[in-house]
Formats: sequence, C-alpha cells, structure tokens
Amino acid sequence: MSRPGPSPSLAAENLADDDVDVVIVGAGFAGMYAVHRLRSAGLRVRCFEAGSDVGGTWYWNRYPGARCDVESVDYSYSFSPEIEQEWSWTERYATQPEILRYQQFVADRLDLRRDITFNTVIESVHLDEDGLTWVAGTSGGERVRARFVVLASGALSAVNRPDLPGLDEFRGRVLHTGAWPHEPVEFAGRVVAVIGTGSSGIQLIPQLAETAKRVLVLQRTPNFSIPARNYRYDPEQLARLKANYRERRALAWRSAAGTPFPPPDKSTFSVDDDERQRIFEEKWGVGGARFTRTFLDLMTDERANAEAVRFVHDKIRATVRDPQVADKLLPRDHPFGTKRICVDIDYYEVFNRDDVVLVNLREDPIERFGPASVQLRSGAFEIDDLVLATGYDAVTGALTRIDVRGRHGRLLRDEWASGPQSYLGMAVTGFPNLFIVNGPGSPSVLANMVLTSEHQVEWIGETIAGLDRRGKHVIEATAQAQQEWGEHCSKLAEGSLMLKANSWYVGANIPGKPRVFLPYIGGLPRYMDECADVAQDSYRGFAVT
Ligand code: NAP
Repeated sequence: MSRPGPSPSLAAENLADDDVDVVIVGAGFAGMYAVHRLRSAGLRVRCFEAGSDVGGTWYWNRYPGARCDVESVDYSYSFSPEIEQEWSWTERYATQPEILRYQQFVADRLDLRRDITFNTVIESVHLDEDGLTWVAGTSGGERVRARFVVLASGALSAVNRPDLPGLDEFRGRVLHTGAWPHEPVEFAGRVVAVIGTGSSGIQLIPQLAETAKRVLVLQRTPNFSIPARNYRYDPEQLARLKANYRERRALAWRSAAGTPFPPPDKSTFSVDDDERQRIFEEKWGVGGARFTRTFLDLMTDERANAEAVRFVHDKIRATVRDPQVADKLLPRDHPFGTKRICVDIDYYEVFNRDDVVLVNLREDPIERFGPASVQLRSGAFEIDDLVLATGYDAVTGALTRIDVRGRHGRLLRDEWASGPQSYLGMAVTGFPNLFIVNGPGSPSVLANMVLTSEHQVEWIGETIAGLDRRGKHVIEATAQAQQEWGEHCSKLAEGSLMLKANSWYVGANIPGKPRVFLPYIGGLPRYMDECADVAQDSYRGFAVT
C-alpha cells in the first residue's frame, strides 16, 4: 500500500479500553476508506453499517440496470496503485454488482471488516461535554464512546418515499430503487408502474421492459438523458489504461468534476451554427455526462444552454417514433444540466415499444391507489407492482435522520432547520471533533465521489493526527468561519444556472425542505486548495484547544 504503516498510538487518556478514537458511520466508499486511513494512522476505529456488508449506495441500489455514470477506471480508489493494478474493470460504466464486488475485494484486501459492525444503525451521536467525547448509540443498544466522529452516511442514501394517496391499500409489491431486495425480483408476466424518471428510473425502465408484461411510466418531470455508449474493455485497452493510471489520476484530481477530461475550451457562440452542431454531435457520440461540458458557457449562459436544450430535444424527437410521446419526454421546465444529468442505455428507444406506456402526471395525475390498480384522472390501470424511483432526501437526509446532539444538547436537525450550515462542508459550529464526509458545502455530488471521499478522509486524518501531535484535544468550526463559508458557497452558486431548477440539489424534491444549493460548486481542485490553505494557516476558522 502507498499509505505508511501504523504510527505510535495516539490514544487519549480519557478513553477506557473498549472506547475508540473514532466512530465512523457508514461503510460505503467514504466509510471504508476512513476505516483504512485512520486505522493506518494508529487510531482505534469502529465503523457501523446498516447493511450486512460494505458498499453503501452500491449495497442498496440493486435494481435492474443500476450502474455508475462515472467511468469505472475513474470511479475507484486512487490511493493504492496496487489495488488499481490488481482489480480489472470489465466495462466502461460498471454495473452495480461489479462495483459491489470491487468494494468487497477492497474490504478483503485491507481487512476492513474486522472494524465494521454490520446490520447496525447509528441512531444517536451525543456530545458528552464533560470529557468532550462523543457517545454513539446503536440500534443494537450499544453505547460507544469516541474522541471523534466521522459521519460517512452518504449524500444519496436516505430514501424518499412520497406520500401517495391510497398506497396503504395497494396489495402488490412496492419496491424502492434505493432499497432494492437482495433476493431476485421476477417481473415476467407482470404489469409494473414506475414513478420517477431521474437517473434511477431512466436506468431501470429499459431493463424492466425486457421482462415485464407491461410498464407504465408515471412521469412528473422529464429529464435530460445522454446515451452512455457503454462498451466492454478489451484486454489491450485495459492494459493501456492501467499502464497510465498515475497520469489519469493526476488529471482527475485537477479537474472540477474529479474525472480526467479537459474542460471545454470554446464558448457556444464562438463557432458558427454548423460547427456547433458538429461539436454537439461529436460529444453525443462520445456519450455520458461529459456532454454537459461540450462548451464552457453551457452552465452559465442561458442562450448557450438553450442550444444544448434544442440539440437534445431534436435527438429525442428523432428517436421516439410517436410525436406525442416524444413531446411528453421533452424537458422544458429547467435548463439543460441544472438537474443531475442522466446517462442511459436505450431509454428514449424504450418508448417505441407497445408494452411501455408513458403518462404525464402533470396532465393526468394519480388520484389514488387501489388494491390492484392506480387510479389516474383519465382512468384506472390494473397493476401488479409499483416501483418508486423517487430518489433521496439528498446530502442532508442521512445526517438529520440521526439524533446528533452537540454543545448544550443542540440537535443538528434543528440547527439546520432553515438550511444546512457547515465549514468546508466537513465541520459544524457547536459540534466539536465531529466531521462529515460529502456533507453540504462540499463538492460531493458534483464530482467523482470516490475522490471527494478520499480527499476529505485524508484531510480529516491529517487534522486528527496534527491535533494529537500538538497535544490538542478539540477542534471546532467558529460561527464566523461557518457563516463565511456558507456565503462563499452561495456566491459561487449564484453565477450558475443551477439555481433555476427545482432539483434535489436545492432540496426541492422534499416537501418543506429549505431551498439551499447544497453542494460546493467551485470544483474539486479549488475546494482542495481551500481545505489545504485552512490547514496550513493553523486551521484558520477553527478553534483548536
Ligand atoms: P431523482 O433524480 O431525485 O429522481 C426522482 C424522480 O422521482 C423524479 O423524476 C421525480 O420527479 C420523481 N418523483 C419524486 N417524488 C414524486 C412524486 N411524489 N410523484 C411523482 N414523481 C415523483 O432520484 P434518482 O433517480 O434516484 O437519482 C438520484 C441521484 O442519485 C441522481 O441524480 C444521481 O446523482 C444518483 N444516481 C446515479 C446513478 C448513476 O450513477 N448512474 C444512478 C442512479 C442514481 P420530479 O423531477 O418532478 O421531482
């Protein structure tokens, strides 16, 4: 491994034998790396995971068609050149089972599971102000005391189950893409309704159409989707990728999205109409989310963005044979890329099948569910199953669902009642020695989350080690630094079109959630520089005592 071996124990005198230095919540990509990184620094760690194994989002999202839309060679740990060489990805965009196998391989390779307690939910995390330690309460009734807490509970893990009229009466299966059963789910011969046409629904629906008797797509808002152009790696191609892994990673770390592709160098109207069309076609041919970076002003200039909208609308019209169905699929209520872009395999094509029916819920809403039907305004459909591809209480949901209490018993959920506040997206005033990975105010969902997780865990690891070296015990974000960070994040977001969509980025998918642009939009390299500056400047904005 590239990481140094354990350093001398850094345990503080306040801890009993069964206490630990760090409690880590969640064993997805971030929590797994936190176990490895912090343990390698000589810290005693315990990680708690609700699932029965590692994986996080990739443990739960087992729906047919689930894949990552970041290329597999990039959506993987960068910290170990050995693991990079030992593991071989088979496809450009890995499927959920393959990503989970990779995570299990890493867990075996680094012997992570010995410090992870599975099938256990962390229900509470309370600060004991006397000794300034944290006490984590588990669903198994255990109380675990630690000096530090790392919340790696996931930005897209708290599932959103909308309140649907009459759903209690429905006697068929109700499945959520984000909490899919572990046993195989058969759809042959069944009529299946799907609510939700975000990334999950768009991946699921074509797969479902292959096996189900009929698929009823209940669409509230059409989304922009780009063809994945997935392919299997041939051995020579994979060997080339592996041989150049260090260069590829270096490029990824320097790019805003944490992927090794150069930013666009042309603005939309710096080229004539034919050339613009040619460039759009070229990027469409490459496939995947890179299409959002076809021109440098797509996300900041409405006229430029409208060109991308026009191009994708034309593609949808050219793919879907029935013009009325095509029209229902055209996203019109938000600029291109301001909701998380979807990446698909044969999504628009699926609407050419007779056994796939598209319903526009804005014109024909759900009135209620019956025991074996969904009643729309236009009439009832008999259905056997309902799939909710309705997403997540993103970025904050997994954090506010835990009873996190800091100084004076203050509850994190209450502190964030009118919008989350943090310093660097990792620390919260009043919650000393508690760190969040991929929290609000960090790049998280706007970048390659394996790299964002690695970066933040590194920073947290260095911070704890630095405190211990200097004989310090407590690090806490100051209220001023937190406020300034919030203002900084808002200011960065104001320059973009992202605020124009009712997206989960702003919490609009959850009734009553305050409207705040949740991630840091300045890009991964700038964010990393800001974190490094804070550390080098004696942890500017933190009270270290
Ligand atoms: P999502 O993007 O939030 O989409 C949820 C869908 O459900 C939307 O179409 C939404 O409609 C609809 N919906 C929610 N509540 C509804 C209601 N009460 N009635 C009717 N429709 C309702 O969730 P997601 O598809 O699970 O994706 C979430 C994020 O996870 C993605 O954006 C992505 O970041 C990540 N993800 C990534 C991948 C990948 O790597 N390929 C795959 C899956 C997910 P509205 O738009 O009208 O709200």
